[in-house]
Amino acid sequence: MCINPSARRVNLEKTNNFVRMLSRKDFLKLTGAVSLAGMLGEARSQGKLKTKAPVVVSTWDFGLEANAAAWELLVKGGYSLDAVVAGVAIPEKDPAINTVGLGGFPDRDGRVTLDACVMDEQLNCGSVACLEHIMHPAAVAKQVMEKTPHVMLTGEGALKFALEQGFKKENLLTAQAEAAWKEWLKKSEYSPSPNWELNHDTIGMLALDRQNRLSGVCTTSGMAWKMHGRVGDSPIIGAGLYVDGEVGGATCSGLGEEMIRIAASHSVVEAMRSGKSAQSACEAVIKRYYRRRGEAAKGKQVCLLAMDKNGNVGAYSLMPGFVYALTCNGVHEIRKAAYLLDA
Ligand code: ASP
Repeated sequence: MCINPSARRVNLEKTNNFVRMLSRKDFLKLTGAVSLAGMLGEARSQGKLKTKAPVVVSTWDFGLEANAAAWELLVKGGYSLDAVVAGVAIPEKDPAINTVGLGGFPDRDGRVTLDACVMDEQLNCGSVACLEHIMHPAAVAKQVMEKTPHVMLTGEGALKFALEQGFKKENLLTAQAEAAWKEWLKKSEYSPSPNWELNHDTIGMLALDRQNRLSGVCTTSGMAWKMHGRVGDSPIIGAGLYVDGEVGGATCSGLGEEMIRIAASHSVVEAMRSGKSAQSACEAVIKRYYRRRGEAAKGKQVCLLAMDKNGNVGAYSLMPGFVYALTCNGVHEIRKAAYLLDA
């Protein structure tokens, strides 16, 4: 979660540079441009057309660069699980992004603690929570899934496992993040319901590969200045991420405590199982959340992103501001999600 607007600007600048780079290669069309890909995307989101894999979608604007890395593997026929982990490794290693991996804002004790999980089309899953010193928690979560009989490792245990697997121990607290933390310490004001306008920046990614295998990942440094040991939705299977190859997948960003309450990703997948499109499944879950939480939901942000097993994508949020990156047919685009409440 980005509580620092200047960090947000850094991200947007980076994205703009990336967009320019892609433009030079002449294959990027941004949302709003009249393009065949845009029209195909509309048809997809309305469920009128079955999309041919590969497709990759991820939360927020930095998803564009992450999608491009995943796409490289997907077009070569790579496995969607490998693609999503490679994709999110881009923001995880970017020190300018204060919400994921290296450079993530620390907790109130100055410790950068990371949460991540992965899930494949056959319900295999792995997760790490409150992991310190390892830049790529999503890759560690994949190892938990593949190398242990467990789903979730936390804290010291997760770190010990990561080191045994050959991951490097590093200082993830950048000078910029440390300065922001010291600034915050002056007042030590903590609001677990941050201003939704400043955005929430977990990266969740879903990908469908050429063999129609669907996988997902979710990775974050969580809420800045959280209590040490706080775990959000992102590493929790069913909350921050859920995938079932028979149906589709979903991932989230926003205030983790709210997503946990409604088992958000699982709820979206179950809505798709009952016949809803990816888009209407996201809408149904947000509407139910708001109906059940009422006043308690005000000022919070909940963002849902889904893909069905055919690659049709849906997205919806409680408040305005949620954008996502979609890559399909070789075209990378940023899209604005529809939302329930006006500011
Ligand atoms: N969902 C994340 C968390 O609560 C934050 C975010 O999406 O920015 O940890």
